[in-house]
Amino acid sequence: MESQVEQSCPICGTENSLKMLAHTSEIPYFGEHTQITMSCHSCGWRVTDFIPAEGKKAGSWKLVVSSTEHISSRVVRSSSCTVRIVELGLEVTPGSSSTGYISNVEGVLDRFSSAIGTIRRQADAEGDGDILKKCDELLSKIDMVKNGRLTVTLELLDPVGHSQILHEEAVSSEISDEDARELDPGPVYPVFDVSSDN
Ligand SMILES: [Zn+2]
Repeated sequence: MESQVEQSCPICGTENSLKMLAHTSEIPYFGEHTQITMSCHSCGWRVTDFIPAEGKKAGSWKLVVSSTEHISSRVVRSSSCTVRIVELGLEVTPGSSSTGYISNVEGVLDRFSSAIGTIRRQADAEGDGDILKKCDELLSKIDMVKNGRLTVTLELLDPVGHSQILHEEAVSSEISDEDARELDPGPVYPVFDVSSDN
């Protein structure tokens, strides 16, 4: 389903420039999800999100990643989701341009490595040895996790409740309303509010 959305682009402000693509499909073990992609034909801004057919509560998902078998577990990360690697003190919050994705634990680790790589290049250019050392430590630890030689806890915190980790050992729990309010809700799209009312 493709439709023109009567909304201004949140980035460039062009009126009625947004196009929305909705695609509903069955994701194995997760059930039916609708993938929504919004794009602006004026500036090229684009965002993807996933909305489950069944309503979900604010929740957290935790998986102790201790072997290479956990590395291939599927992860659905919605645009409202905060991702943490607890033991390494790493956290990605949604921010205003967050986008949803379906990946696996390895893909999530790769995203952290790539973000750390960006910081490392910056530190390298500025000759900041302390940060450089810290980045190298984190990168090698992430590699150890991928090889099953270091155990960490992957945690998803989602005030909207659309994110999930698919593994039989993954533990989900509800987040209190109070805690949910403290989490960054990510970008807000008027169109998504309409679909969640249905
Ligand atoms: Zn735009």
